[in-house]
Amino acid sequence: MTFNENANVGGNRARRRGAGVAVAGGGLAGIAAIAVVLFQLFTGQDLSGVVPALPQTGSAGESEIQQCETGADANRDDACRLAAGSVVLDQYWGSQVQGYRAPQLVIVDQQTPSQCGTASNQTGPFYCPPEETVYIDPTFFALLRQQFDASAGDLAQLYVLAHEYGHHVQYITGLMDQHPNNGTGPDSNGVRTELQADCFAGAWVGDMTQQVDENGVPYLKEPTPQQIADAINAAGAVGDDHIQQESGGFVNPESWTHGSSEQRQRWFETGYQGGPASCDTFAVAGGNL
Ligand SMILES: [Zn+2]
Repeated sequence: MTFNENANVGGNRARRRGAGVAVAGGGLAGIAAIAVVLFQLFTGQDLSGVVPALPQTGSAGESEIQQCETGADANRDDACRLAAGSVVLDQYWGSQVQGYRAPQLVIVDQQTPSQCGTASNQTGPFYCPPEETVYIDPTFFALLRQQFDASAGDLAQLYVLAHEYGHHVQYITGLMDQHPNNGTGPDSNGVRTELQADCFAGAWVGDMTQQVDENGVPYLKEPTPQQIADAINAAGAVGDDHIQQESGGFVNPESWTHGSSEQRQRWFETGYQGGPASCDTFAVAGGNL
């Protein structure tokens, strides 16, 4: 119960895409597309950005997120919760970053190709810079529960989404270009990039109840201490050392790319307390990272 029930989360730009999505040639999308073609024929105006293009034959299908208009919908359904989360994240980052532009959010159904490789629940959520797109498969959260005992509750799911948005902010602000992700050691740019994304996620969680819909209704309720702990737990659960231990391996700092569980939790809390300005992971000496 993270969203306010009557908050308006309609108009989100998330799309469902993947092998399990079948909308080609039928349904409302098809009718809308035909209507647009007719409109264009008669008026010469190009409305191709208004409704989705129909999927090409043989490619992964794409559809809208169904019944995702209110906070109540978001509380009920994982895909809608992520779509609604993107609305709140876009509003927050729009107020923090000059010239902010929203990423695409693709809710993965089974699997779908991307310029950054195949997206599925096995790859986990990721951000694809050349597409400015976040890919996330909601069934990933079930894996998080099973494999890492992370409760993967509502706020933890939004934290994971917010982490990927953190990478989008890094990309559009030029931080990624300034600090190329080369090397994998414990104080490499790769680790600093990941910890900064955790910090940005924490910054959003710390301010998320300030974001309101057009009627002034806050999208999200004040997180409970339990939910915060849950989100921090999720941050730790996807820390690389934890994953290596869980999979029976030993912790090899040279192979870290995300940072340790302790580091991830600490940077999340840094952002939560201090906002985005506190998130300069590139300015910290290696031993203090
Ligand atoms: Zn990351």
